[in-house]
Amino acid sequence: MLYQQTISAPFLLSGIGLHSGEQVSVTVSPAPIDSGRYFMYGGEKIPADTTVVSASQLSTELRQNGTGVRTVEHLLSALFGMGVHNACIELDRPELPILDGSALPWVVAIAKVGIDIQGEGDRLLPLAESVTVRKGDSFVTAIPADTLRFTYGIEYPTKAIGEQWFSWSPAIANFSKSFAEEIAPARTFTLAAYIEQARAAGLIKGGSLENALVCDQERWINPPLRFDNEPCRHKLLDLIGDLSLLGFLPRAHILAYKASHNLHAEFAIALAQRL
Ligand SMILES: [Zn+2]
Repeated sequence: MLYQQTISAPFLLSGIGLHSGEQVSVTVSPAPIDSGRYFMYGGEKIPADTTVVSASQLSTELRQNGTGVRTVEHLLSALFGMGVHNACIELDRPELPILDGSALPWVVAIAKVGIDIQGEGDRLLPLAESVTVRKGDSFVTAIPADTLRFTYGIEYPTKAIGEQWFSWSPAIANFSKSFAEEIAPARTFTLAAYIEQARAAGLIKGGSLENALVCDQERWINPPLRFDNEPCRHKLLDLIGDLSLLGFLPRAHILAYKASHNLHAEFAIALAQRL
């Protein structure tokens, strides 16, 4: 967090897109200082920032000049969590692979090639006053604080999930290690009842019991879980990926409740205007 960094060497990962069901290969390469993280697809260079975000309930998309890349949140979360500010991400299809449904395969690949320090750049900016976005009973808020802290709450009408809260306050010096252990392994999740509905809408064609936790009204269909509150931790993983579109974080307590990718994105845009 205290330095601008890139990865030490390129790496390639491939897999299936969650929504498209298509096989995709992704090459992540080092990029120069101050270049940020950007996607290369279809001849378009798409920056990972709030100016091109168009998030839905289910995933985050970056779209520029009619070209979009989709489901970017887990890779962006992994890069930010591992302290990678500058990287070039080349795709041969327009959706990132879902892999195991978490950010862990990305984190493992980043750790394997290593990190290069490029220069100074503390990305924790002071926040003068709180910022909140809300929709119904969902909200995301940032409250000025001395240290960075995240809290996420979710509530689902199934006993398998129910109400969950998770709070994470990593020491900045320990941010990447803590992210890799506490956040990155948490997998995406869904309710079995929702799957048919989403498939009918042309979504989650690549979804399977290998890349998402699935529950019915009472229990998990494909245990074991990696954490008791794995769904709530995954929501925080998504929020970190979506907020990383800012390129920095506020020195604040960031509190989210029942939020979705579009509320995360709306919050990132609201923060970008204040910082
Ligand atoms: Zn996710």
